[in-house]
Amino acid sequence: MSASATSLPGTAGETSGQPLLRIEDIRKSYGELEVLKGVSLTVAEHQVVAVIGPSGSGKSTMLRCINRLEEPNSGRIFLGRDEITARNARLNELRRNIGMVFQQFNLYPHLNARDNVALALRKVLRQSKATAYATAEKTLSRVGLAEKFTAFPAQLSGGQQQRVGIARALAMEPKVVLFDEPTSALDPELVSGVLAVIRDLKALGYTMVVVTHEMGFARDVADHVIFMDHGQIVEQGPPAQIFSAPKSERLRDFLSKGL
Ligand code: ADP
Ligand code: MG
Repeated sequence: MSASATSLPGTAGETSGQPLLRIEDIRKSYGELEVLKGVSLTVAEHQVVAVIGPSGSGKSTMLRCINRLEEPNSGRIFLGRDEITARNARLNELRRNIGMVFQQFNLYPHLNARDNVALALRKVLRQSKATAYATAEKTLSRVGLAEKFTAFPAQLSGGQQQRVGIARALAMEPKVVLFDEPTSALDPELVSGVLAVIRDLKALGYTMVVVTHEMGFARDVADHVIFMDHGQIVEQGPPAQIFSAPKSERLRDFLSKGL
């Protein structure tokens, strides 16, 4: 369990925590195409931030910059006091603190659920097999997969595979967990089970950034909502404001089209 999860029963949902993740004016181009045009964002400890916006607006690129799967061209990103974007940042340690859950799960097909979760514990944290398996089993049980330790990805439903993906991220005890459209690849009937897991994590106090098309979920669960369009944060605020009283034409348009 993350350190953050131990300290706050009853306070989840409040947003008075210390700033944990700070993104300062990041820009990213692919050739001529400027995909992030100066994005700044602060996520407090225990806060859940939902990121919404049309396809191609730069949501995934922003998340990928946070764990340095992509290098921003300029701007800085901090996790606590550590600068993620520093040239000499220790990437393994950084990524250990930044869990990432992908739309397409990104599980290893030749490894069972327990080995998928244990792999980074063994390779990055250098845990013994027994220790890594114990953590993997505990974490898989937490996401409702106690019966599935030895199942391979192909033997699991999409929702179960995604829960393995979540368990894999949690097992490293990250300080923040990033979700990139975690339910977009799922059959509709499997979406709610995965969203329920993310709700549980909020109740445990996890700090999370969730890119999602599930507006109902964003409205219910997020403390703060970011609307991105064309590489910029166009509007942000508490869910009630974003969904009930959007200010910008672009956000109103986005919400009315249900895109
Ligand atoms: P979103 O997640 O909001 O749909 P992305 O961050 O995936 O948006 O993409 C933003 C823009 O950047 C899109 O126009 C996309 O085609 C482009 N893009 C993303 N990754 C790359 C890449 N590796 N090379 C070139 N263009 C990219
Ligand atoms: Mg995306």
